[in-house]
Amino acid sequence: MKRSTHHMPNTPSTDDWRARAACRSEDPELFFPKGEVGWKTNVDKAKKVCRRCPVHRECLQLALDNGLDDGVFGGLSDKERRVLIRRRTNNAA
Ligand code: SF4
Repeated sequence: MKRSTHHMPNTPSTDDWRARAACRSEDPELFFPKGEVGWKTNVDKAKKVCRRCPVHRECLQLALDNGLDDGVFGGLSDKERRVLIRRRTNNAA
């Protein structure tokens, strides 16, 4: 499983879009919920943060370009990104 580090409290340069990510002040675990219990609740909380994020497009593109298959990125869960990729693949065929 691939993971980005953009949810982590690293220090991106000021011209890096990650510096403007709304999740920088949030618990990274919120974006990588585990197990069945509470999964949807945590995903919904993460997506709520994404909705106010000024760089959600860049984030989603990063996840799609790099095949990130775990966690919430750009306001979509990993399951939702897989559906999006399948739709795009089917539309391109
Ligand atoms: S869209 Fe969500 S996961 Fe992506 S940078 Fe913004 S808050 Fe973080």
